[in-house]
Amino acid sequence: MSSIDTALEANKLFALDYDPSLISPRPRLHLAVLTCMDTRLSRRALGLGPGDAHLIRNAGGIVTDDAIRSLLVSHYLLGTQEFMIINHTDCGLMKATEEELHRTIEQRAGIPANSPVRFHAFSDVEKNVREQLRKLAEHSWVRTETITIRGFVFEVQTGNLREVS
Ligand SMILES: [Zn+2]
Repeated sequence: MSSIDTALEANKLFALDYDPSLISPRPRLHLAVLTCMDTRLSRRALGLGPGDAHLIRNAGGIVTDDAIRSLLVSHYLLGTQEFMIINHTDCGLMKATEEELHRTIEQRAGIPANSPVRFHAFSDVEKNVREQLRKLAEHSWVRTETITIRGFVFEVQTGNLREVS
């Protein structure tokens, strides 16, 4: 059975006691979290359950145009007031340079990319979090007077979050 089929089986059980009236699409904690897609980072690591917060994920936990788009929807349409940006130690994007990632993937794909891809590789995780905070605060619709934005590093060895100031 494929993993998708396994997920579909699990979904049948999930749907049995699913009650949409218990969960609002507006995050109960008025919180949006932008984080890496890494498997070691989960809702549980933040004590979050269904309905609590928006989780926006991409490789690295990078403030891309698309992450900003989601955060703007989160704040202006769904009422979140706090943004948390989380990068983590041992991130895949720290293990190669931008050029190496391009070369590796082009080799494996066996064909050049037909549209530009930027991986946002980085070497210093704290510096990278600061860079994401700066990029986010730079957007004129991200009003830092009304939205609290804080950045963190998740330590994959210990499970602890460390704030980056
Ligand atoms: Zn990562």
